[in-house]
Amino acid sequence: MTLTPIARVDADVAIVGSGFSGSLAALALLKGGRRVALIERGRHPRFAIGESSTPLANLLIEELADRYDLPRIRPFSKWGTWQRTRPDVACGLKRGFTFFFHRHGAPFEDDAERGRQLMVAASPHDEIADTHWYRPDFDRALAQDAEAAGAVYLDATRLENVRQEGECTTLDGERNGSAVRITTRFVIDASGSRGFLHRALGLPEAERRWLPSTQGLYTHFEGVARWDELQPATDTPPYPIDDAAVHHVFPGGWIRVLRFDNGITSAGAALTDPAAASLAAADGAPAWDRLMATLPSVADQFRSARATLPFIHSPRVSFRSARVAGPTWALLPSAAGVIDPLLSTGFPLTLLGILRLVELLDTTSPGRERDAALAAYERQTLAELDATEQLVAALYATMADPPLFKRLALLYFAAASFSEAARRLGRPDRAPGFLLCGHPAFGPELAACASMARAGADGSARLALEARLDLAIEPFDTAGLLDRGRRGWYPVLASDILASAAKLGATPADVVGLLQRTGFSLPEDQT
Ligand SMILES: Cc1cc2nc3c(=O)[nH]c(=O)nc-3n(C[C@H](O)[C@H](O)[C@H](O)COP(=O)(O)OP(=O)(O)OC[C@H]3O[C@@H](n4cnc5c(N)ncnc54)[C@H](O)[C@@H]3O)c2cc1C
Repeated sequence: MTLTPIARVDADVAIVGSGFSGSLAALALLKGGRRVALIERGRHPRFAIGESSTPLANLLIEELADRYDLPRIRPFSKWGTWQRTRPDVACGLKRGFTFFFHRHGAPFEDDAERGRQLMVAASPHDEIADTHWYRPDFDRALAQDAEAAGAVYLDATRLENVRQEGECTTLDGERNGSAVRITTRFVIDASGSRGFLHRALGLPEAERRWLPSTQGLYTHFEGVARWDELQPATDTPPYPIDDAAVHHVFPGGWIRVLRFDNGITSAGAALTDPAAASLAAADGAPAWDRLMATLPSVADQFRSARATLPFIHSPRVSFRSARVAGPTWALLPSAAGVIDPLLSTGFPLTLLGILRLVELLDTTSPGRERDAALAAYERQTLAELDATEQLVAALYATMADPPLFKRLALLYFAAASFSEAARRLGRPDRAPGFLLCGHPAFGPELAACASMARAGADGSARLALEARLDLAIEPFDTAGLLDRGRRGWYPVLASDILASAAKLGATPADVVGLLQRTGFSLPEDQT
């Protein structure tokens, strides 16, 4: 009898999943001198969904790169540096969030007030703009960097079980027909929604509390027309309409359109169950054609488009694990929950989780202190997913009501821009939690407004909700979001941030310094 040798790997931390999150966590841990095993069931390059970044996500990449001295990662935080430094990694230019609100069966039409659109810029010019990550390239580049930095990278590895023996965790699996055994002191699960530890440990799934059940239908395309060529704007918008995450919203769902610089466009729909059922979404391409038939202006955009991959139908987009961490393991936020692509919340939530978890492992030893820190990590992750779910659920409830949807979406833009500015000013304590969910004023107000919207506010209740939204947003509005004269178009203006210095607890000089550091053109009286 011949015994197949077992390949053995001994690691301080084993990370399951080599999407961007697993590789970034590996890179940061390696800098702390840890032995890291990075285990992937597939092989790069591979398709992954989740592509649209945001200012907060990019700031968190910068923070990670600076804190852990990762100079090859930092250029990915801005479109300009990415283009110059890593042109081998495809990406797209994202200047902001564009929304158009459609009626089924009718061409897109708007009024003089731009009541059926919303454009919120995320950057004042291309150089410091956000990006869409072309994940086949991006995730491969990060996994290669992690391996080059010293991670033991095991791809094409099927993990079979996880066992705890004293302080040691053992992961057994199979790679290229041979058994592989990884022993480690800590496991980070970066394997995405309904991922490895959730299944292997039999963790309970948490019920959705606010969001309706939604389905996904998506793929990559070639030949998607630009909206601004089909429907040129009459005035000059805050940024080119299509250099953005474009959202086509309609009753029962929405479509995202994200362009990359390699001719590929990622597009897909998120649909409530009734909308998905009426399209028979599980059919894939024919269901997409049926959706296009109900949205004539979107259909124009896709008239000459060709899917480059088969459509993927996801029968259940959202997922929540009830448990996020134990004494020797933790799920990254992307493994702990996915709410919805709306508002691109997945990346910042996950990056916040990586920063917290790596710091926690660096600053605590196994025992009571670490247990308490992991319990706090779990509470924070769940609270942030709750806040995201509440707001996204309110947006789903108002997809047929553009004015209210737009007002609610400003909660997100206020929280995101305030958080970014506060962190850049070195005052992260002023912006506790994603969506400011840990802020004693903003957190409860977001929950209350979202709850009112989901309940369907009419008449005087609606007026009360609108007033409450304004009151909630005002102390955190650093972007002119409450200026109705802007008629739904919000550029990024240095003057808005300067005028908000006091809200951020900063002096005008602090804010001028911030603007200079981050590549803004200053108003003439400030130069
Ligand atoms: C339809 C949709 C659209 C989205 N759009 C956005 C967006 O625009 N912006 C945004 O911020 N967020 C978005 N998200 C969320 C985003 O997709 C996730 O936050 C992000 O992909 C998480 O990346 P990750 O590296 O943690 O995990 P993933 O990208 O899921 O990668 C997990 C890796 O783990 C591997 N793996 C899985 N199981 C195992 C196993 N048992 N053993 C070993 N390896 C394993 C997989 O092969 C994969 O390589 C979207 C989500 C959905 C569902």
